[in-house]
Amino acid sequence: MRERLVAGNWKMNGSSAANQELLAGIIAGVPAGGGFRLLVCPPFPYLSTVCAQVQGSAVKVGAQNVSEHESGAFTGEVSSRMLADIGCEYVIVGHSERRAMYDESSFQVAAKFQAAQAAGITPILCVGETLEEREAGATESVIEFQLSAVLDAAGIKAFASAVVAYEPVWAIGTGKTASPEQAQEVHKQIRAQLGHKDVDIADRVQILYGGSMKGENAAGLLAMPDIDGGLIGGASLKANDFLAIAQAAAQD
Ligand code: PEP
Repeated sequence: MRERLVAGNWKMNGSSAANQELLAGIIAGVPAGGGFRLLVCPPFPYLSTVCAQVQGSAVKVGAQNVSEHESGAFTGEVSSRMLADIGCEYVIVGHSERRAMYDESSFQVAAKFQAAQAAGITPILCVGETLEEREAGATESVIEFQLSAVLDAAGIKAFASAVVAYEPVWAIGTGKTASPEQAQEVHKQIRAQLGHKDVDIADRVQILYGGSMKGENAAGLLAMPDIDGGLIGGASLKANDFLAIAQAAAQD
């Protein structure tokens, strides 16, 4: 049985005071039961403080982005080694907002994925189609391309210490959620694509769903055989909303 991962992407939200309160609420309310892990991904300036605050709790910390470069003259960028240095264990790469708003290509995403792993950080690789792509019947080919870019660059073995997140762009921050069946179809495709290279690794990799996941729809999504958790935006900003999803992810 794969462990579930419930990851909160706080995006560009929060403040020292608000984060402190949100985290305290999450830590105090971690549901009983096992088989799941909680992760929060705050903005860069708060990472160190959040890493200190989660010490001794069941909550892990990740970043929302990372440079593909190791070090040097890259003004405004943050390296994987810096993230590892302050205690970050995960990083989101290839979020659709970064692909769309900052023109990140699948090849750049692959480089970030590799840079994270080189520093011992687990990348959470986001893939997903836009509404136009879905309506044009291109979902399968879009996902296959985005995943192939990383598979070709990093190789299948890299997926032994990586997480994949299927995030249909049309469901992010829109209140629209993929149905459990729609999500499962893509999750199954992702696992099959990895399985063509290595069945064991494909069987073990966690594949998260992201796109307006909330307490009310989490159980239905998580009941699907290839959905191993969630990458959560809006509902990760209120402790009770995030904990409701964590509760749905708890396994006996
Ligand atoms: C996200 O941005 O990763 C996301 C899934 O956001 P939301 O839950 O708000 O749709």
